[in-house]
Amino acid sequence: MTDNSDLRAATKLVHLGRKPEKYGGLVNPPVMRGSTILFSSCAAMQAAESHWHDQPYYGRHGNDATFAFEQAIADLEGGYRAVAVESGLAAITAAISAFVKAGDHLLMTDAVYGPTRKFCDSFLRRFDVETTYYDPRINPDKLAALIRPNTRVLFMESPGSLTFEMEDIRGLADAARQAGVVSMMDNTWATPLYCKPLSLGVDVVVHAATKYIVGHSDAMLGVIVSNERHYMTLRQSVAVFGHHAAPDDIYLAQRGLRSMAARLQQQSASAMQIARWLQQQSAVQRVLYPALPDDPGHALWNRDYTGASGLFAFVLQPAYDRAAMQRLVDGVRLFGIGFSWGGYESLILPVSLGAVRSATQWQGGEVVRLSVGLEDPLDLIDDLAIGFAALEAST
Ligand SMILES: *Cc1c(COP(=O)(O)O)cnc(C)c1O
Repeated sequence: MTDNSDLRAATKLVHLGRKPEKYGGLVNPPVMRGSTILFSSCAAMQAAESHWHDQPYYGRHGNDATFAFEQAIADLEGGYRAVAVESGLAAITAAISAFVKAGDHLLMTDAVYGPTRKFCDSFLRRFDVETTYYDPRINPDKLAALIRPNTRVLFMESPGSLTFEMEDIRGLADAARQAGVVSMMDNTWATPLYCKPLSLGVDVVVHAATKYIVGHSDAMLGVIVSNERHYMTLRQSVAVFGHHAAPDDIYLAQRGLRSMAARLQQQSASAMQIARWLQQQSAVQRVLYPALPDDPGHALWNRDYTGASGLFAFVLQPAYDRAAMQRLVDGVRLFGIGFSWGGYESLILPVSLGAVRSATQWQGGEVVRLSVGLEDPLDLIDDLAIGFAALEAST
């Protein structure tokens, strides 16, 4: 592989993981489907054994296209290696499972993605791993008090993907390291382009590649990026569970990567324009977007991030109840109502915070989340204005 460590990220996105000379000159590595990998002899099979995880050995562990995608993500994150799996949630559960055993303790941000919380409260609990949720805005000096002799993992998600609290990644990762705790972060919001948690001291980074990396709402994929120290432990956890990233999805993720910098730049600019417009609406109490100068997480964002993606939320004035909020959501036409985010099309989501908090309480009105796509932001603003008119309609 040529050394391209001096290239800027947008250039890397175009060149990483491509080998036209290997695939008859094709610009894109093809979809590589396969279970069996054939060996020329018993000796060749035996020689391949120690490289089961980074050279073709058995289809479940990946093939050349998988390894090329994994290496591209590892390079972008500044990590040692990466492991692709079938979904973002699989990346999270495999990463946590790699480091905990019965009797252990886990520290988890209270703003975490709901299914991650469910994994801790159901599966891990059954195997006698206890989870303590901490306030995402905790001062790192206070983290030590939550660390027990059996604490193994600290799991961050910054910003939280519903309420957008920023964590002090550097400070929390330091506190974890001093206590011998493995630190992890869900970096899906920022992508490897806008935040590099490994350079801030985090050990393991997970992504729902389903979101901005795939970028077109047509595949599910997860990826775990690790420093050298923890890589084999992770790889083995992925292998024992039988996780597998499907070849067609790897292809779509590779293709998504090529345009990710341009997409994010546009989505970020549009999101900021829409966020500022929302701040001027009298029905809006607050806009939750760390890129805004008056956001409580702005200083941390400014310190540790080089950009903001197009996902953010706003809070309605407490006078508006859930039915009113739903009139707004039902009233827009260009924003689709649905889960996931990071695609080229805009989405709107009525947020339910009731079941997803335990260490902190959500204070404020109804929350609506937007994933801003590649439409003209002025059309999106016009559309939201129609939604706000519907909100007022029968109050
Ligand atoms: C969507 C999401 C996931 C899960 O990804 P899937 O590919 O849908 O399994 C994990 N973390 C965050 C922050 C997400 O938004």
